[in-house]
Amino acid sequence: MTRQDRPPFAVLDGRIVPYDEAKISIMAPGLTFAVLAFEGLRGYWNAEDEQLYVFRVAEHLDRLTFSNAVIEIDEPEGSLSEQMLALIRKCGFREDIYVRVQTYIDDWGDMTASGPVGWSIVCRERGRVPAFAEGRHFGVSSWRRNADDASPPRIKASANYLNSRLAGLEAKRSGYDAAVILNRDGSVSEGPGGCLFIMRDGCLITPPVTAGILESITRRTLIDLIREAGLDLEVRDVGRTELYLAEEAFYCGTGQEIVPILSFDRKPVGAGEPGPETHRLQALYDAVVRGRDARFRHWLTPVY
Ligand code: PMP
Repeated sequence: MTRQDRPPFAVLDGRIVPYDEAKISIMAPGLTFAVLAFEGLRGYWNAEDEQLYVFRVAEHLDRLTFSNAVIEIDEPEGSLSEQMLALIRKCGFREDIYVRVQTYIDDWGDMTASGPVGWSIVCRERGRVPAFAEGRHFGVSSWRRNADDASPPRIKASANYLNSRLAGLEAKRSGYDAAVILNRDGSVSEGPGGCLFIMRDGCLITPPVTAGILESITRRTLIDLIREAGLDLEVRDVGRTELYLAEEAFYCGTGQEIVPILSFDRKPVGAGEPGPETHRLQALYDAVVRGRDARFRHWLTPVY
């Protein structure tokens, strides 16, 4: 992102300020010890409704509260939801956007400080990733997922992304687009920034929340949509070699939405192209997030 692409405003500690004025201390434990929890949300512009819908706000902010509770960051003041919506309105977006909400220990302190809490919200234009249509190639990483009893992946804390970064760097160096990370037991956990589904014999399968994954809101959404569509679904451990047997597979998360997986370890998934069920779920997901499916309107928060 170039300087010109940066948004005009951000929320800093509850106030909307010019983006360039949103600064924190260089000795803040949020930076020095990565005591920082965050959320990434998407807003979808619906041209027909002339409306911007933010997807599953309550679920994202609840997860932030949970992350803060686990790593003992004090709760920020006021309603983050109202602050976020006020910021989006002030920036005036009429396109798809991405919002990052983050809470951290600010100022100057030690590793176990619980405050002062600082928080910031940034939103920017962000369209669909090209990988949504194209698909991507994945390779199993030699790095193992950090464990729930070490640096819990269940919480969305920036410290966990060191593990993701190592796996992502290795994948890139090996000529893959992204990594599959196994947990300590050798089962599939997730990718560096998203969860995984495979399909075998027509049944969609995703690892459980105990496999070393972030409790992804997109994964949860897809589980509901798959059940609603009457497709077979199993939530269970996935072995590495099952990746090679998959007829279809995809990667999911707020940012990437649903990215078809074309190969694992250079072994093609199915025909090596995005599969029909993946396409069907992409279409369903798109209708849901843009407010074109009345059954799921309660997941959307209109901005204007
Ligand atoms: N796992 C990890 C490690 C992630 O970073 C993300 C996305 N931020 C996800 C899964 C997907 O989570 P969500 O669907 O809530 O965006």
